[in-house]
Amino acid sequence: METVQELDKTNVNIGSEIGDTCPVCRKGSVEDVGGCNTCTNCGAQLKCGL
Ligand SMILES: [Zn+2]
Repeated sequence: METVQELDKTNVNIGSEIGDTCPVCRKGSVEDVGGCNTCTNCGAQLKCGL
């Protein structure tokens, strides 16, 4: 039996909306930068043109 890692302990929401945790690096948070939802850590642009 393999141990399944519990992911709900940190209560993070991975997604592309403002305040979500970046799905690319899972370290940064998503914030609105120049009209794009951008990860503050790795700089990935998750959603633009809102
Ligand atoms: Zn990121």
